[in-house]
Formats: sequence, structure tokens, C-alpha cells
Amino acid sequence: MGKVMIIGAGGVATATAHQLVKVPEVFEEVLIASRTKEKCDNIVKKINKGNFHTAQIDAMQVDELVSLIRDFKPDMVMNLALPYQNLAIMEACLKTGVSYLDTASYESPDNPHLYYIEQWSYFDKFKEAGITGILGCGFDPGVTGVFTAYAAKHYFDEIHYLDIVDCNAGDHGKYFATNFNAEINIREISSPGIYYKEGKWIETKPLEIHRTIAYPEIGERESYLLFHEELESLVKHYPTIKQARFWMTFSERYLTVLEVLQGLGLTSIKPINYQGMEIVPLQFIKAILPDPAALGENYKGKVSIGVQLKGIYQGKERSYYIWSNLDHEKAYKETGTQAVAYSTGVPAMVGALMYMKDIWRKPGVYNVEQFDPDPFLEAMPKYGIDWQEAIDIPLPIDKAEQQ
Ligand code: NDP
Repeated sequence: MGKVMIIGAGGVATATAHQLVKVPEVFEEVLIASRTKEKCDNIVKKINKGNFHTAQIDAMQVDELVSLIRDFKPDMVMNLALPYQNLAIMEACLKTGVSYLDTASYESPDNPHLYYIEQWSYFDKFKEAGITGILGCGFDPGVTGVFTAYAAKHYFDEIHYLDIVDCNAGDHGKYFATNFNAEINIREISSPGIYYKEGKWIETKPLEIHRTIAYPEIGERESYLLFHEELESLVKHYPTIKQARFWMTFSERYLTVLEVLQGLGLTSIKPINYQGMEIVPLQFIKAILPDPAALGENYKGKVSIGVQLKGIYQGKERSYYIWSNLDHEKAYKETGTQAVAYSTGVPAMVGALMYMKDIWRKPGVYNVEQFDPDPFLEAMPKYGIDWQEAIDIPLPIDKAEQQ
């Protein structure tokens, strides 16, 4: 049917590549291009298929991207590198008339804020060029938006309260490690918490608000309120929402180490001069931490990510919880990566599949909740991620609020 080009060769790209290979009739040729070509070669070596190719690219350079895209002629570019590269890759897609997909909103290297505004501003240009931009097609953002769209389509006339709950109850056996790119992860967690209430964005100190939330098949875990970019797109696309929050669990060890790193100034993104060389402390920390793509081998335990919603259906109050549970060992067996990379890489592949099959294809730039959720949620279990739902039950987030 066609060709896709993946940019990036980390944990997420590895998981996606292992899924693309399952649908050779759709993904006839795949090019994996990244800053370090050796990492692309390692992925392809494991997959061992002749229709996968590799290339070296600096995805901050629009000209380099344009010439590689012109050379390979993909139907879609899947940006599985870092949020810093989003605008350069979108610009290159525009110049070459090729559709685009990513898994995280743009972030400027010197300003750790995740906002969609810059990517949304490409809407008219993508529309004129007749190309589709699919934004935030991992798990969160990604499936959380698809879950919300599914709830809105089938179960609610109006959604009023939205809580995204993300629990990693796994143990990788390392002293300290992040589950995806350490620089992006630590920037996210060290930023102020922000949530939406009655038309306003309310800022808290980092990790200031926390609740003990119960997760299916896992039990209670301390969960911390963070800002996450899908809150911005979901309150825009579902204007009846009165409150929207995002919760994530962290172990005590993780939080203690993070506090020490912060206390020492080692999470700073301001460059310092060290023996005549300019270094960014957080980039140095990333360099010495375990590679998230390589955490899978001894990772045990489960991940649970879902959306808890309250609102109105046919004049009555309604509550609804929709979630997926993933298993680190199963993810590793299948793709050689842990469940967090897997939970991002599989939805990215399903999003590309929706595009290639003409199901999610419309000129412009869209968040995932703006497409039909049904075919996506029908396909996702075939590629390893099942989901479950419960209607009109007491929500775990409400129980946590009452404690
Ligand atoms: P990794 O750090 O493991 O991989 C990132 C890859 O991008 C690396 O191969 C890196 O190259 C490459 N890269 C970085 N800069 C450039 C550049 N200038 N040009 C070309 N390639 C570059 O990250 P992950 O795989 O863990 O995460 C990938 C993306 O997925 C991130 O944007 C992350 O925010 C997002 N994500 C989304 C989630 C979701 O649920 N929506 C959850 C988890 C992650 P090199 O090897 O040389 O460093």
C-alpha cells in the first residue's frame, strides 16, 4: 500500500517498528532515520526484513529532512524522535507534501512547556497542501484522547469532569531510571502542575497535589497532579468540560532521587561552563542514566493508563472509566522494549495504519480525538493493547478525593 519514514531510533521507535512489520501489505517499505544511524541499524537487524532501510539525519535541519523525504518518498513521516524536532519535521513535511504523525507536543529546548499552539498554527498550511497532521498519537497523549472521543461518541451528551490516570507499577531493578527520554521526562515532572477548572488554568507547585488512587489489577498508588498536553486539546475539543486533570504515579525512591538532583541543580537546563566546555546539567544527567530503550530485560509488573469521566447522558448523571493495562514482561518478549515504550509505539503504529487505510485522513492538523475513535479501538487489541470499560460505577478518583 505504501511507505513510512520513522524519525528517531529510541524505545518508542523500536516498539513501532516491531508492529509495522506485522502489516507488510500496508507498510511495504519503511525507512528508520535518526541522529545515530547505528541505533537504526540495530532495530532493523532485530527485525530482519529486507523492506526496512536506515539513514542518518539531524532532524533539527529542515533541508536535510527535505532531501531525505524527497529521496525516499514516504506517504507519512512518523516523528518518534523528541518534541524539540516537531516544528522542523512539520516544516519539511509541508515542503514535500507528505503527511505527519507525532507522539508529543512541541517543546522548545530552552523552555520546558508543552503547548499545541505552534503546531495548531500549521492547520491552514497543511490543509492547503492537502496533507494530514496527526498530533499526539502515543498513549498519553494519544489513546487517552481516543478514549475520551469514544466516551463522548457512545456514552455522554456532555462531559463535565475528566481525570487521566497513569500508573506504572513496574520495577526495572535499577537504582534510578526514567521510562522514556530522561531529559524530556525530568523537564515534565519538574515543571509546575497545571489543571483546568471552570475556564481557567490553575498552576500548582511541582508535585504539590497528590491522591491515593486505586488502579485495576494493581491497587492503590500515590498519584501526582502534572500538566500534560492532552488536557489543552481535550478542553478545546470538549468545551462542556468543567475540570480536567492528569495524574501520574512515582515511587518514593524516584521522588527522593529527583529531589536530590534538583537540590544540587543537576536538573537545570541552563548551560554551565565546566573546564572550558559548556554543558547543560540535565543533559549530563541524561547521559549517565540508563537508556530507557534498554530497561526492558528485567522489568516486571504492570502499567495501567485510563480516563475517568463524569457528565450527563439523557438528562442523568453518568460516570465512566476506560483503561488499558500493559505488562512489562509481555512487551519485552514481543519487542525488546518495556511497556511504556510499547504503550507509545503501538498507538503510533495504529495511527499510521488508520492514515494509510484512508480512515484517519483529512487535510489539516488534528489531535487524535478529532478522528473517529471506533476503528482505532477496534484495531489496537490486534497489535497488543487491549482495553476495558466500566459504566456508571463509583470512580476511583472520587474515592481518592474523599480520603
Ligand atoms: P529516546 O530518547 O529513547 O529516543 C529518541 C530518539 O530520537 C533517539 O534515537 C535520538 O537519537 C533521536 N533524536 C534526538 N534528537 C534527534 C535529532 N536532532 N535528529 C534525529 N534524531 C534525533 O526517546 P523515546 O523513544 O523514549 O521517546 C520518543 C518520543 O516519544 C519522545 O518525543 C517522547 O516525548 C515521546 N513519548 C510519548 C509518550 C506518549 O504516551 N505519548 C510516552 C513516552 C514517550 P540519539 O540516539 O542519537 O540520541
